[in-house]
Amino acid sequence: MDIKSIEKIVSLSKRRGFIFQSSEIYGGLASTWDYGPLGVEMKNNIKNLWWQDIVTARRNVVGMDAAILMHPKVWEASGHVQNFNDPMVDCKNCKARYRADHIDLSKPCKRCGKTDWTKPRQFNLMFKTSFGALADSGEETYLRPETAQGIFVNFNNVVTTARQKLPFGIAQLGKAFRNEITTGNFLFRTREFEQMELEYFIKPEEAKEQLEFWSQERLNWYKKLGVTADKLRLRPHEKDELAHYSIACYDIEYEFPFGWSELEGIADRGTYDLDQHNKQSNKKQTYFDQENNKHIVPAVIEASGGVDRAFLTCLVDAYHEEEVKGEQRVVLRLSPKIAPITCAVFPLVNKNSLPEISEKIFTEIQTEFSAFFDQGGSIGRRYRRQDEAGTPFGITVDHQTLEDNTVTLRDRDTMEQIRIPAKNAVSELRKRLQSV
Ligand code: ATP
Repeated sequence: MDIKSIEKIVSLSKRRGFIFQSSEIYGGLASTWDYGPLGVEMKNNIKNLWWQDIVTARRNVVGMDAAILMHPKVWEASGHVQNFNDPMVDCKNCKARYRADHIDLSKPCKRCGKTDWTKPRQFNLMFKTSFGALADSGEETYLRPETAQGIFVNFNNVVTTARQKLPFGIAQLGKAFRNEITTGNFLFRTREFEQMELEYFIKPEEAKEQLEFWSQERLNWYKKLGVTADKLRLRPHEKDELAHYSIACYDIEYEFPFGWSELEGIADRGTYDLDQHNKQSNKKQTYFDQENNKHIVPAVIEASGGVDRAFLTCLVDAYHEEEVKGEQRVVLRLSPKIAPITCAVFPLVNKNSLPEISEKIFTEIQTEFSAFFDQGGSIGRRYRRQDEAGTPFGITVDHQTLEDNTVTLRDRDTMEQIRIPAKNAVSELRKRLQSV
């Protein structure tokens, strides 16, 4: 897949209603995107699978949902006011702006070909906002650049209410905001995005082992989403790449058309965050270790992934173009677990009560699965539309249905069609979904 295919994905996303540019009718807002009818379904499926795997299926992980706006002192204590900077340089000639760590300053500007750079300057990535009735007298705070701090400042509240023993995790899904210097590559780097974060609290001596464990767990989760295993890898961070809070870190990377890039970071944050909040708030965020009869500050392993990057990965990985009987077919081979529509229902023609029978089948399917009813256009075109939407199954009601109450069930990937009794449609879909 070459770089052009990101453009193909942007175009398919718009055509089928996955992603629209934000505020498009006003010319758009750079690097912000809206999820359309299919996009929101798929994004919810990804988030639900994460929650299921991280929270529901584990006895020692609980969830929470903190406010986006937090006390400004949180961001001083966390080190974000001081350290959450990227070095930026501008081309003095054409005013293009780059991240200094992303380019070679001895080489000319990619846009205009001149070599005339400003000195690198530190640029804080947090969005400032003010709250209170009057803008000029209101207090300043920030839109959170990560969801994690909402977990750290609630550590004590969760420990005392959820009665967990080390090791245990607190997980959260939610929006984060960063005023990125350079954006682009569609959903990959945006200024508003969603994170899925797990903070797993442990005894400090277990950090190495737990970092390995969670790195593998998280890598396997992307494989379970259906992402091609060969295009995923774990990459340990070099010492000079580590974030200000981090002792060791792995990135899970995917081979995008624009190169290997990070999907998720799994980091040993040590006791940094709880220590900082203990100091700055004067409220103890500690854990009582019953075995040793003393209060300790637990260390934390963080698994921090981006929902939008996972979404983009699934789209890119699923996108295929192929020739079928001399015609080009675009198909999204999405795992049925995340496909926005599980099954489409089609009456072959719009007469002889085929639409009525189809409606009945559709209503039954809809009680359990996300379904789509389509009676417009030739059956071939309707199949193609669903292939582009990534719908794994299609049920067609035809003239034979009138004779023997069977329908065809079409598989998106093999395009094979088999006949099944209409009354078995729901159980057949259930069976197929369970087997992925
Ligand atoms: P990068 O090096 O790409 O800027 P990062 O190392 O700063 O990312 P983290 O702070 O580790 O990212 O954030 C955790 C996860 O949040 C990332 O792995 C990514 O999936 C997601 N994320 C971070 N920044 C963005 C962004 N601007 N747009 C979309 N997702 C993001």
